[in-house]
Amino acid sequence: MTRAELTDALRAIVGPRGVLSRASELLPFSADGLPTYRLPPSLAVLPSTRQQVIDVVRLLAREQVAFVPRGAGTGLSAGALAQHDAVIIGLNRLTRIISVDPVNRLAVVEPGAVNVSLTRAAAPHGLHYAPDPSSQSACTIGGNVAENSGGPHCLKYGVTLNHVVAVTVLLPNGDITTLGSAEGETPGYDLLGAFVGSEGCFGIALDVTVRLVPDPQAVRTMLADFMSIEAGARATSAVIASGILPAAIEMMDGPTIRAVEDSIYAAGYPADAEAVLLIELDGLEAGIDDEVHRVKAMCTDAGARTVRIARDEAERARLWQGRKKAFGAMGRVAPALVVQDAVIPRTRLPDVLRTVHEIAARWNIRVCNVFHAGDGNLHPNIAFDPNDADATDRVHHAMREIMRACVDAGGTITGEHGVGLDKLEYMPLIFSPASLDAQCRLRTVFDPERRANPGKVVPVHACREWLAAPAARGRV
Ligand SMILES: Cc1cc2nc3c(=O)[nH]c(=O)nc-3n(C[C@H](O)[C@H](O)[C@H](O)COP(=O)(O)OP(=O)(O)OC[C@H]3O[C@@H](n4cnc5c(N)ncnc54)[C@H](O)[C@@H]3O)c2cc1C
Repeated sequence: MTRAELTDALRAIVGPRGVLSRASELLPFSADGLPTYRLPPSLAVLPSTRQQVIDVVRLLAREQVAFVPRGAGTGLSAGALAQHDAVIIGLNRLTRIISVDPVNRLAVVEPGAVNVSLTRAAAPHGLHYAPDPSSQSACTIGGNVAENSGGPHCLKYGVTLNHVVAVTVLLPNGDITTLGSAEGETPGYDLLGAFVGSEGCFGIALDVTVRLVPDPQAVRTMLADFMSIEAGARATSAVIASGILPAAIEMMDGPTIRAVEDSIYAAGYPADAEAVLLIELDGLEAGIDDEVHRVKAMCTDAGARTVRIARDEAERARLWQGRKKAFGAMGRVAPALVVQDAVIPRTRLPDVLRTVHEIAARWNIRVCNVFHAGDGNLHPNIAFDPNDADATDRVHHAMREIMRACVDAGGTITGEHGVGLDKLEYMPLIFSPASLDAQCRLRTVFDPERRANPGKVVPVHACREWLAAPAARGRV
């Protein structure tokens, strides 16, 4: 089939408005949330129903065409970009919350359902969906499953993997299988665990069954401000070591605080501080104020200038808005922002952040840090102008050095944003050749022809068996 014939065949499945082939229409699909990569696809198909997704994948299987599943395109690792002439399959028209079952605390959703819409649907039952990426008002549950996404409240409640009980998967050859079960544990190998976080390389999540969590009886949100990152890090370690498990501990550094306070998302953070901690405690009403006093004392002992406790829901929402919109606020600093993602042991926070600033100074770039301090999940953000080739080059060099510093500190190269294209070159920093090869072989179980999101996650040169089969080389 020629490309034109393929386009017609796809139109026959999804209708003329469901296939995009003009360069101007395809522009939004040429990047995700990471502005350092641009790969315009040649074709995007936007099914509106589950059956259309199935028919599209079966057609692509017959024609041996590669594809890239795509949700909202908020990913931060260049994961939903098309390489090797792959067709983008946009899933964000499949937005139904199929069912909410308050008795069993489960919901079934289509892959394009936006994260926050699930919590809204569960709210009348006093339930919510716990994984809450800061992009939750845009990102999709399918994308969350593919990235095993986290979020501020994952410190206490766990990441996506801990909340997904079953996924109906459309395999790249067009077969359908269910991994996991609504009843809980299934016998045999944990293939659901393998699928969550597989970044679209194992097939398409057609529907997802998730756990819902009861809303806590009591919530207290506090903001502690410090004159140094070290003091904020000391407070974080003290709280975790005390045995109290906050729902969230988020840190923002001085440049981030000032970007937020200068923006429409101003949250009343002290603009002269060098670090703030946003700490949330939740649980039973009985005893929560005692925990608040203990956390407050730990922050003060670590050097907090003030510790403010939100008086009402409006103040709480405002404190959180500053954090959740911090990336957006940095849009004022430069035209584009690279948000990076790495994990380090919490105790290494001060020295790794010092190293990050040294690297930024050496490469003459502006770096801000906003991150999930409780998990040791760092997000160094670099604001830059992508039209400036020299600046873009310096950003790449700095990022590589930052990743290396995190690994040297005993950490790893991604906490929640996945590998995509961006982190491919860092995979050998943390995996041996044998381990990378095993990952290639696992992928082959789901996708023997390597047509699902080709070229992502594992560097091709690490896949020994694949390289031995030259025919498939084009799209590994
Ligand atoms: C401002 C901002 C804040 C963010 N905050 C967080 C945060 O706190 N925590 C966090 O973890 N992430 C965060 N992210 C990153 C991003 O939102 C998540 O990775 C999210 O899960 C991506 O969802 P998406 O629907 O946009 O997926 P996309 O970007 O469209 O795709 C991401 C990956 O998922 C695959 N995929 C998409 N849908 C499916 C499907 N149905 N089946 C199989 N594969 C699929 C794609 O092929 C791709 O590899 C943030 C991003 C932004 C822009």
